Amino acid sequence: MPGPKPSNSRLKKNPSRSGRQSPEDGVPEDATLEELRQAASICKACDLWKAATQTVFGEGPTRARVMLVGEQPGDQEDRSGHPFVGPAGKLLDRALSLAGISKSDVYATNAVKHFKWSPANRGKRRIHKKPRYSEIQACRPWLEAELEAVKPKVLVCLGATAAQTLLGKEFRVSRDRGKPVASPIAAQVVATVHPSSILRARDDDSRHAEMEAFVKDLRVVARLMAKK
Ligand code: SF4
Repeated sequence: MPGPKPSNSRLKKNPSRSGRQSPEDGVPEDATLEELRQAASICKACDLWKAATQTVFGEGPTRARVMLVGEQPGDQEDRSGHPFVGPAGKLLDRALSLAGISKSDVYATNAVKHFKWSPANRGKRRIHKKPRYSEIQACRPWLEAELEAVKPKVLVCLGATAAQTLLGKEFRVSRDRGKPVASPIAAQVVATVHPSSILRARDDDSRHAEMEAFVKDLRVVARLMAKK
């Protein structure tokens, strides 16, 4: 189902909060992705920067036809400074390739740009923690700026956090995955699972089935990309 003309100005803006820097104060207008990346590297608009190594901004060509939005960087992304380089990113690369989507067509980013984690009970592992609504909203101006700069033909929400951030709290990935959704934020919007959920499948059979379903959703994206 085709969506209305994209207009990122129709996205709900981050509410201003007293006593804390808002990214909107630091998001340069009409900026290139490189200028946005530089500005985001010193963002302190919520507390997540404190325990993270660095800001992990989106990456990909400015004129990418597809923008993928995940939840937040993981452990390896936090250390390297690049999105989707850990196990979930590798699975995503495989799925994109199986769906016939070239990485040169993809800009990949996250709803939240700093890694939120807590220490494991034993050992040095850092355990992923889901970002709070306030943290997602604090980071939203960066995502809006990326959307404005890239203007993707197809926006893909990976997982519930990205989908509910961009499509509303009522959106259910389990119900509406793989279906084009009408939205003012991009010409075409599709939601699917986050690749990390496939890594958590309980056994090989379910992992295989979930991978097939993921690739099927991405084939919908490939068809939308090819539409005139
Ligand atoms: S998570 Fe987003 S809003 Fe919070 S400090 Fe990092 S870049 Fe800024």
